[in-house]
Amino acid sequence: MRSKALPILCYHKCGPADQEGRRLNVEPRRLAAHARFFLRRGAEFVTAGRLADGWPDRGVCLTFDDGYVSTLRNAFPALEALGVRASVYVVTDKVGSSADWEGGDGAPLAGWDELLDAHRRDFEVGCHTATHARMDGLDPDTQRREVLDALNALRERGLEPRSFCHPYGRYDSATLEILQGAGVPIGLALGKRPALPTDPRLELPRIVLAYSDGVAMLLYRMLLRPRLRQASGAAKRP
Ligand SMILES: [Zn+2]
Repeated sequence: MRSKALPILCYHKCGPADQEGRRLNVEPRRLAAHARFFLRRGAEFVTAGRLADGWPDRGVCLTFDDGYVSTLRNAFPALEALGVRASVYVVTDKVGSSADWEGGDGAPLAGWDELLDAHRRDFEVGCHTATHARMDGLDPDTQRREVLDALNALRERGLEPRSFCHPYGRYDSATLEILQGAGVPIGLALGKRPALPTDPRLELPRIVLAYSDGVAMLLYRMLLRPRLRQASGAAKRP
């Protein structure tokens, strides 16, 4: 891997398939295998917000979108047992209810008590808008409300989010301006490669992992696929 390349992994739910399904889910054992792989390589686990303070030499970030009950109850204890911390991105109007937005399956979302408890155990609780709005193309006033309402809800509870996760990985120039104005230093998008220190801090790419991705597939998504994409891009150039 190129020096300082930082895999930021994107997960959602975490539980057995017979309870959580396979879509947007990782089984706790598989998640632990991913974490142990990085531990064996001597990687430093950082929460996304910490990237505002500096870029680790051999880092890795684990992120969980939407704040599912299954993430808090299954993923976090499994990681904690390995001494690993991660970030969870919550949709503030939906905390304690369910993921009923477009494309969501209505899976239950953790309440504030559980989120605050995770925060006390050094997990990062970050911002994922107020209603899980798809921001690109949305009028700037609505975008501003989505960001500021969500930040206020978090701050009222003593959380000071330093990272923001773009719903659906989508954003536009207004989103970035609003985040900058609101003092949020780190933004997470989606991409098919590790993040690099040269990437704009509000547009860091994350690698999405699928239910069936073991360590071999993790390696493919992290190391091989970016090279193949680079090579095919180079081949297309005259
Ligand atoms: Zn989401």
